[in-house]
Amino acid sequence: MVLEKLSVEGIRVAEINSEEPDFLGLLTECFVQARESLLHMSSGTVATLLYFENKIQIGTRQRLSRDDVEFIIARLNSLAAAFSGSRADLSEPAVHINGDSTEDYVYDNENRNRGQEVTFPLYLQERPLGVIYIESLDMERNLRLGKFIREFKTDFSSGITTLWNYYRRQKEQFQSLISATIEGVIFCTMALDIQFVNRSALRLLGGSVRTQWTGRPLSELNSPFLTEFLEEGIAGGLNQISRVAELPGNRVKLLGVHIELLKDSNFQEIGWMLVVRDITPNWHNERLQNALTTASHEITTPLSSISGVLDLLLKQEIGGLNDKQKRCLEIIQDDIDRLRRLLSETLDLARLQQSIRFEDRRKETSLALVADKVANLLEPLAQDKNIEIELEISKALPNLKLDRDRLQQVLFNLVENGLKYSRPNGKVKVAGRLDVDYVETTVADGGVGIPEAKQKRIFERFQQLQNSPDHHAQGHGLGLSIAREIVQDAGGKIWVESEVGKGSVFHFTIPV
Ligand code: ADP
Repeated sequence: MVLEKLSVEGIRVAEINSEEPDFLGLLTECFVQARESLLHMSSGTVATLLYFENKIQIGTRQRLSRDDVEFIIARLNSLAAAFSGSRADLSEPAVHINGDSTEDYVYDNENRNRGQEVTFPLYLQERPLGVIYIESLDMERNLRLGKFIREFKTDFSSGITTLWNYYRRQKEQFQSLISATIEGVIFCTMALDIQFVNRSALRLLGGSVRTQWTGRPLSELNSPFLTEFLEEGIAGGLNQISRVAELPGNRVKLLGVHIELLKDSNFQEIGWMLVVRDITPNWHNERLQNALTTASHEITTPLSSISGVLDLLLKQEIGGLNDKQKRCLEIIQDDIDRLRRLLSETLDLARLQQSIRFEDRRKETSLALVADKVANLLEPLAQDKNIEIELEISKALPNLKLDRDRLQQVLFNLVENGLKYSRPNGKVKVAGRLDVDYVETTVADGGVGIPEAKQKRIFERFQQLQNSPDHHAQGHGLGLSIAREIVQDAGGKIWVESEVGKGSVFHFTIPV
């Protein structure tokens, strides 16, 4: 029987990079869906051939004979060859009928009449993706179908182009985000093949940026510890693994590796994400800090004995001194005092950072009691300069959520500064005020003041303005940074209001 043919110009979707396996997979799904819909629109046989999967899917509402199936396969093969030239390998396409393999399909209806066929190819750019083939007995219906497909194809291709643009934009945004992160990021499949690796990961692991890594086994990145950690996670059935790897080489290099199992929205495991970070600087910092702490301790002991001996000399208990000798020893004693203060502040800071990191010692502390203690401790300095320390703190204030030693340290540093940066004969006032869920403490002096431009910077480490009226009272620029660290750690704020020549008011808040 002679077939009447109605061939429709294919759907052509330009601008799509046909090397995108994810998108092609999505598109194939779309075509399969389209074929299903066509099957319901036409009572005829519908078949598709998708080249890149080399599969023939026949959907039919009729009973097919073995001849029918062979005929369709031959037709699709010749169409496919015509569309794709030599690019399609159609030697043994897998054939499915209504989802079953041909072996499971029971053939009957040996004498079916052949109808009219409509075929339309699907192209991605110039690459043929597949052919949709419809054979139907109903000529009228097929003409309508042909018309429908002709109209539909413009919408269809522009729809796919829009989808493609969206997909590409999302992918590019995601990739540029991941590429720009300082941390190394690798995505790999469950079979441990690389899907994506950013530049930071290549830099950290020493992989070449020129190599095309997608699709290669993770082990090729030459970082055996990654596979080792992953295998450990897989063996233990873990979803997350965090480990540290030490890289061989002259200088110690430590990498923190965090691995996470990725699942899709149906909780299917789809791969692994590995985040790699260089943690060597932290490690060096910690070592440096430990070394500093140890050195400070080591220096404190001989300094104490030097200071004791100096005391004896100055009190002339060992022998007499002339004025010049006495003056020289006093200068030494002054410097030793400064050195001891610097060491004790360095140790405070180190202790503080360690304890902030490792423990939360927040207790309840009475501001009034601590302020009394600080005033007592600083009384000698206040008397030296004839400055009054005035406390205006109600005993009824609720306790502050802060460790007592730390509160004392904050207050001590602020009141001591108030005394240091004031001329003789003045007042330093400490006041406390409750405001709903925190207490605001103020330490006010009538001293030299701080220029506005410097008011934020003085809370940074080693920031000094050289504005002390008393050269010997100058500190080391650590007191306020220690105070800020304590206050912020307790969940509060610290700031200053000041006017040059008139004085300063330091404020800090601590939750109650
Ligand atoms: P220092 O040990 O130098 O006092 P701080 O961190 O306590 O270090 O203070 C940093 C700098 O801020 C001081 O050197 C000083 O210039 C300035 N400063 C701090 N408190 C006052 C104050 N009450 N009045 C004027 N200047 C102050």
